[in-house]
Amino acid sequence: MNLKYADRLQNLSGNAIREIFKLLASPEIISLAGGNPAPETFPCAEVARITTKLMEEQGSSVLQYGATEGWMPLRQEIVRWLPGVGIHTDVDHVLTTTGSQQGLDLVCKAMVNPGDIVLVENPTFLGALHTMKTYQAQFRPVETDEDGLIPQALEQALKDGKPKFLYIIPTFQNPSGRTLTLERRKAIARIAAEHELLVVEDDPYRDLRYAGEALPSIASFDEAGYVLYLASFSKLISPGLRVGAAIGAPELMQKMTIGKQGADVHTSNLSQAIVAEFLKEGLLVPHIAELCNDYRVKMEAMLSAISENFPAQVKVTHPEGGLFVWATLPPYIDTTALLKKATEHNVAFVPGAGFHCDGTGTNTFRLNFSMPSVANIKKAIAILGEVISDVL
Ligand code: PMP
Repeated sequence: MNLKYADRLQNLSGNAIREIFKLLASPEIISLAGGNPAPETFPCAEVARITTKLMEEQGSSVLQYGATEGWMPLRQEIVRWLPGVGIHTDVDHVLTTTGSQQGLDLVCKAMVNPGDIVLVENPTFLGALHTMKTYQAQFRPVETDEDGLIPQALEQALKDGKPKFLYIIPTFQNPSGRTLTLERRKAIARIAAEHELLVVEDDPYRDLRYAGEALPSIASFDEAGYVLYLASFSKLISPGLRVGAAIGAPELMQKMTIGKQGADVHTSNLSQAIVAEFLKEGLLVPHIAELCNDYRVKMEAMLSAISENFPAQVKVTHPEGGLFVWATLPPYIDTTALLKKATEHNVAFVPGAGFHCDGTGTNTFRLNFSMPSVANIKKAIAILGEVISDVL
């Protein structure tokens, strides 16, 4: 074929995690690579019951085209749910999205011209980097430490020409598991208002907290309307439903709605109505409690297996929630090569390079604890400990 593809695809290869999944076809492999919720936690019976009820009571509207802004009962339920995150708002500030991935896509579509600068944590979610690359954004990494993004570093980064926005995952960050402190959340909201900087706060893991106190969102400190909050039901109910929400200033919501009209017209009414009913019936809070009980045990199993099996030179994060633990090895270790060795011993993880916007992080990797069983977590970490010891 002789097709002239668009420039926007020039620097894009397939998503690194999807490539790794191809390696994992063998059933013997224990994968710590994905980021999927545990399938045994999916509320299949509830969703089946709700779907039947929806068809009986509202089938003709659920199966019809709907508004791009979203299914109104869901937008209303989201408005009722948001005070838990510290956000007091109304439906005009809420756009339902096809997963928070689409929220990211739509904010880029609304904001980013080729060559525009976006500030990012380094490392950050590689799916976000992928989307931003599609819009030909340039990345400017902002320094982070164990407490997340450093506000002084953000102020410094703003001196070198104005970026279009800051993309930040403040809670149980993907991939590092780190959480931004309360003081820093306030500081970032203040800097955003002072510099009229849009902050895209991507917070899909917030409710998956297994220890410590919940923190208010950055958006809760935003009085000037410069924070766009992205929520997702993927990790709380089911990723297959593809339901998330973007919450922000109505002006920005309208721009994103225009972008969404050209993308998918609207998020599936059936999916939105299922989530709306799940919330309305009060099922989400107890369901999250069950998820947390399951994942807490898995996270603790992983962290204690790591302390028993990993050599002392490997530094790992100790998150209080989310789905991931992040490891940093001595700089001379290439974790992409290490993955090859690990898969020969039937264990997989995600090498860290793909989460970095600047080619660094080749000595890092991400481990997921939500998918594997506790027994497999222990087994895989013991094997990985040996594979790492061999290369050090
Ligand atoms: N943001 C972050 C930080 C994520 O980790 C993910 C999924 N892994 C997403 C967004 C996208 O999730 P979804 O589109 O399923 O809501």
